[in-house]
Amino acid sequence: MQDVYGLIDKLQETHALSKEEWVQVLESRNAAAASYLFEKARKIRETIYGKDVYIRGLIEISSYCKNNCYYCGIRRDNRNAERYRLMPEDILDCTDEGWRLGFRTFVLQGGEDGYYTDDLLCDLLGKIKSRHPRCAVTLSLGERGEASFRRLFEAGADRYLLRHETANSEHYAELHPSEQQLETRKACLAALKRIGYQVGSGFMVGSPGQTTSHLAEDLLYLKQLDPQMVGIGPFIPHHETPFGTYPAGSVELTVYLLGLIRLMLPHVLLPATTALSTLDPQGREKGILAGANVVMPNLSPAAVREKYSLYDNKLCTGEEAAESLQALRERVERIGYTVVVDRGDYR
Ligand code: SAH
Repeated sequence: MQDVYGLIDKLQETHALSKEEWVQVLESRNAAAASYLFEKARKIRETIYGKDVYIRGLIEISSYCKNNCYYCGIRRDNRNAERYRLMPEDILDCTDEGWRLGFRTFVLQGGEDGYYTDDLLCDLLGKIKSRHPRCAVTLSLGERGEASFRRLFEAGADRYLLRHETANSEHYAELHPSEQQLETRKACLAALKRIGYQVGSGFMVGSPGQTTSHLAEDLLYLKQLDPQMVGIGPFIPHHETPFGTYPAGSVELTVYLLGLIRLMLPHVLLPATTALSTLDPQGREKGILAGANVVMPNLSPAAVREKYSLYDNKLCTGEEAAESLQALRERVERIGYTVVVDRGDYR
């Protein structure tokens, strides 16, 4: 058996590990091995993306959701969730403001809300693209049919984010009611790739019931899917959900996983997520120093930000707010990186 350093070296050389090796590289980690990993992750990221940090303006278009994920604060059965939906005009205003601030990618995220039909979204995509022809639009609106994904792509959507949440079907069933199936998620991700989207997947770290073996399966699945983006962040409980009293995931493990993912998928677009910053005021910096190269400040109208409450205390102010871009720039510069005005496509 190789030690943790040997496994990190192997991952750097071959960009792959076996399931047993993933379990071992996770379970035998320590602070010194993490530093060793992060140095390699930064080096490889810098050969591909230099010191650039890409920004995405996150527009949270709806807090209505037909799904009932046990971890999520905007799940259908949360009667105390404040519901809102943005009208196309509101969303267009957000993109105008975002463009002015220096954003060249807009991410439209929301619960699974039937209000946003293909017709409505295609019309909206056309308007965004005609007002800002050089921007990229990312959708993160949950599961839809392949025909719908195709229409949205043809109307101008460039990228789609859909985390697989966990690649183990028993664990998936611990996190979701039975009408939600891992196979459906995977089929959506396969369809998105087929159509030609830049695809993002990912998972929560420390979700209830998660084991190291599950994490190993997540990494093997990501390797096989080979997405352009990977979003991972710690699980954070929301008090109005069935998992309200469960402990949050670990920042340390999340950051270690970011480093591993950078070595496994060297070109991947890897955000330091809001959940990471919510649990640790230095989370963003720790993520970037472990190989992350994207941050996604909140560009939603201020009046609705508090209502898109996926988990307790979710940050939407300070450097997580689009209008504080200058403060974010300064913080990123302090650790030797540069926020750039760029679509930030996959290379
Ligand atoms: N409806 C869309 C967007 C979901 S919200 C979709 O299904 O893709 C985006 C991500 O937030 C989810 O994929 C999930 O991984 C994460 N999330 C939800 N609840 C969370 C929680 N309690 N803690 C941390 N992350 C959470």
